[in-house]
Amino acid sequence: MAEITRRKSVGVNVGGVGIGGAHTVAVQSMTNTDTADAEATAAQIIELARAGSELVRITVNTREAAARTAEIVARVREAGHNTPIIGDFHYNGHILLAEFPDCARALDKYRINPGNVGAGRHHDENFRRLIDVAIEHGKPVRIGVNWGSLDQALLTRLMDENAARPDPLPAREVMFEAIIRSAIDSAETAEGYGLGRDRIILSAKVSGVQDLIDVYRALARRCDYALHLGLTEAGMGVKGIVASTAAIAPLLQEGIGDTIRVSLTPMPNGDRTEEVIVAQQILQSLGIRSFTPQVAACPGCGRTTSTLFQEMADDIGRYLRGQMPVWRNHYPGVEQMQVAVMGCVVNGPGESRHANIGISLPGTGEAPRAPVYIDGRLHTTLKGPSIVPDFIELLNRYVDEHYSSRNTGQ
Ligand code: SF4
Repeated sequence: MAEITRRKSVGVNVGGVGIGGAHTVAVQSMTNTDTADAEATAAQIIELARAGSELVRITVNTREAAARTAEIVARVREAGHNTPIIGDFHYNGHILLAEFPDCARALDKYRINPGNVGAGRHHDENFRRLIDVAIEHGKPVRIGVNWGSLDQALLTRLMDENAARPDPLPAREVMFEAIIRSAIDSAETAEGYGLGRDRIILSAKVSGVQDLIDVYRALARRCDYALHLGLTEAGMGVKGIVASTAAIAPLLQEGIGDTIRVSLTPMPNGDRTEEVIVAQQILQSLGIRSFTPQVAACPGCGRTTSTLFQEMADDIGRYLRGQMPVWRNHYPGVEQMQVAVMGCVVNGPGESRHANIGISLPGTGEAPRAPVYIDGRLHTTLKGPSIVPDFIELLNRYVDEHYSSRNTGQ
């Protein structure tokens, strides 16, 4: 694993999952179902948990949603998942948490946005009521500032103060200062109300990559609260994945970030678990954690005119991800396995030898044979139409022989 010196932060226990302190970086995600539909929301939490999400957030925006929250948590637990479930509150959290104590009890953490708890005197009163509920139920809180809903009173005050300076700062810097101050001041206020430092996580999300890096570097310098890291409104598809990676990776490399979420906009009826896979892939690519065996595949070129090799790389990647919910428990360490699927003889045997198990497919014009390498040695050569299932069988055998707790004694 990579040698990254993590920023020192105060550890927080969120429903049994450690965030910050000596804990590794946790992956989290958020549902997009209507929380009032308990069945659909519980099903999506389970789907996200099975994909490897270590915490899942649900929006709690209405009385109907708050009324179903305890049932959602119960459904997830009955299905055998202990994944902590977090409630996301805006505008009316102080009302819902007080009116629905079952909801307050069932959730493992509350996310509060200090820009959305009311204005003026009500801001302070509502914020205090939220913190009091967290203290009463022994729950941690994420104070999550978002530049799209920044505390306008604070921003206006800082803008006015800046305008009165002999050397005013650029508006961008004042805005960032408002985001950071909103997070840190709110956390200190919560501590003043009696919420332990070890129950507070901060986030300060913006949607620009360079902006996020600047904001989190400053936040990390100025406090030791555990930090939730993510680019807000990252967008869809490739754009969202690349922007999130470009923003999150440099910060993780600097040791900043105790839990991450990749906020992808899914395609209509798209797969919500994509955000979990991307978050895992960021951590795994940086060498911070391992989640799934990695498939090294060459990009293909004029030597691979058939689609066999792309299909095989894709099939194997999917197969490995599909196995992980079971393998995770039965085959400790399997997530570190390296698999190679290569398109021809040029780099195929070499790359395959570096993997735990690798296959070098025949390129155009090569004999229809696919040598398989195991732990650096030629193991067998596959031929014929069943190359893919035959390779998967070898893969399964390798996993069972090398990672089974039966064999490793773990
Ligand atoms: S291994 Fe072969 S098929 Fe793959 S990119 Fe290199 S030359 Fe092309």
